[in-house]
Amino acid sequence: MPEKKASSIDIFGLLSDDTAEEKKKKRRKELLEPTGVKELFKEGKISINKFTCEGGQCKLCIKACPTNALYWSSGAVGIIEDLCVYCGACVLNCMIDDCIKVERKREDRKTEKFSKPREVIMLEEKLNGQKRLERVKAILPTADDYCEKYGSKPQA
Ligand code: SF4
Ligand code: SF4
Repeated sequence: MPEKKASSIDIFGLLSDDTAEEKKKKRRKELLEPTGVKELFKEGKISINKFTCEGGQCKLCIKACPTNALYWSSGAVGIIEDLCVYCGACVLNCMIDDCIKVERKREDRKTEKFSKPREVIMLEEKLNGQKRLERVKAILPTADDYCEKYGSKPQA
């Protein structure tokens, strides 16, 4: 019978990765706590294109950021990744399309990407619409419930 091969999984590597991840989470929590801003997304990333950024005359993203994750240094906008909560306020305020790119993952693992103010607005409208629908469904679960209360069918 052939000898069973040893598993190639690096247990110690996984453990140290976990520890690094835990340390990162702890550091983020400590940094974000004083800002009072909640972490709404599981994970994310942000980048700023320094070649299209008009930072010298602008800095609107820095003013808009609720956690002070953005700063001005040596002629460019810098990012403190540990402070970014991927809220999109910087993208919403940037006058250059695709200059700031944000990608974030929701608790349900859905990924959202945006890099233009109109994309942030559309995303917020979609999310608000979903929340409204969920609230209506919770109060009036069926079309008959709706008719009984309002006398006509809900619009699709
Ligand atoms: S808002 Fe946009 S253009 Fe203005 S400094 Fe920030 S990244 Fe640059
Ligand atoms: S997405 Fe932009 S505004 Fe929001 S926390 Fe991150 S850097 Fe600040």
